[in-house]
Amino acid sequence: MNFHDSERMSGVLAQKGMREASGAEDADLIIFNTCSIRDKAEHKFLSELGRIKKLKKKNPALRVAVAGCIAQRMGEGLFKRAPHVDFLIGPNNLHKIADVQNWEGRSAALEENPELAGTDLPALRKKKPLAWVSIMFGCNNFCSYCIVPYTRGREVSRPEENILTEIEGLAAEGFKEITLLGQNVNSYRGKDGQAGLPELLEKINGVPGIERIRFVTSHPRDFSDALIYAMASLGKVCRHIHLPMQSGSDSILAAMNRRYTAGQYIEKVERLRRLVPGAAITTDLIAGFPGETEEDHKSTLKAMESIRFDGVFAFKYSVRPGTAAARMEGQLPEGVRARRLDEILAMQDGITLEKNNALLGAELEVLVDGPSDLAPGRLTGRTSTNKIVVFDSTPAIKPGDIIAIKITVPGKHSLCGKPV
Ligand code: SAH
Ligand code: SF4
Repeated sequence: MNFHDSERMSGVLAQKGMREASGAEDADLIIFNTCSIRDKAEHKFLSELGRIKKLKKKNPALRVAVAGCIAQRMGEGLFKRAPHVDFLIGPNNLHKIADVQNWEGRSAALEENPELAGTDLPALRKKKPLAWVSIMFGCNNFCSYCIVPYTRGREVSRPEENILTEIEGLAAEGFKEITLLGQNVNSYRGKDGQAGLPELLEKINGVPGIERIRFVTSHPRDFSDALIYAMASLGKVCRHIHLPMQSGSDSILAAMNRRYTAGQYIEKVERLRRLVPGAAITTDLIAGFPGETEEDHKSTLKAMESIRFDGVFAFKYSVRPGTAAARMEGQLPEGVRARRLDEILAMQDGITLEKNNALLGAELEVLVDGPSDLAPGRLTGRTSTNKIVVFDSTPAIKPGDIIAIKITVPGKHSLCGKPV
């Protein structure tokens, strides 16, 4: 989501005649687009911000803007903490970057009005043939650990006709794969309040030129049968769902305010697997939430063993100021959180490797993304189930093609293969 917000700000600046600098040293304006989701992201930003200080000493005309969730959370206090910051732009105010050349002295655009977030912006996309498209902004869920509802504000859906117009334009420009973005895309509501994500997917499925459709993130409570049917019946919707489970313990899920039980989660996964055979399922897990006992942690490992996810993004619980979980008793020492995280990651490593090994010799349909960052000279693409595949390039293969690859070397993070 942040990557796409950066594309949107770049698009506005390009319209104003500004160009991307070759590096920080050549820039007249440096924008940090920031994330508050965990403490580590904030630390990383603050240390990067410190490094920019000396550039400003060398070039007093340089302007420094901080956009995104840290700007919203820290507000004008950031000016005191880092006097070399000139502008603050909250995540619902990204359109204000258009005025940046006219701003004088210190300025802050931190309006919380959620409607503002939906302002259509001309994104400058960097990942062709893949495109992200925002369909909603903000979040109403207030999971007890999470800062997002405080920084991005209340949930707003973008009008369906704006989304479709943007996607038709992307198809005309040669984009092939669309990923719909929102904190909780399952609660998308069209203009009349009736049409939801399944109806939106059906319309996008009818856009000529678009080959694949993905969507993130789904909330298990709102992951409906209608959406499962849409995944089963719409040919362009990928066979992959990212469905954050967070914990396998019912008491921890309740304390997190997730409003589902581990059993309900597993039921939905089973339903999906019945109706969309071969669907890949990935998840997010938090290790060491306040009050998590060894038993609770074992329930998470047990759930992982039984579900066998295709991939897991796991994080140590991080205290976010102002959230309900920050005030809970039973905050766990760093060492316990780290050890539980390691156990989760080790268990998943084994499962991923087994699942990837099972694909040895398989012929998989891959949409070609472009040159591989990890294997110079080779190409990379992804399967409908979102597995990364690396293969030798031939002059005939172009980004955006969908080709068959035979898997010859399954790895932990990607699969290597040969065009068939
Ligand atoms: N709206 C999405 C994504 C939220 S942020 C969702 O509900 O899934 C992505 C992930 O960051 C979350 O799923 C959660 O696992 C993790 N996360 C959020 N706040 C966190 C915190 N305070 N500490 C550790 N992980 C956190
Ligand atoms: Fe945060 Fe929960 Fe909203 Fe996701 S659904 S953004 S975890 S509050």
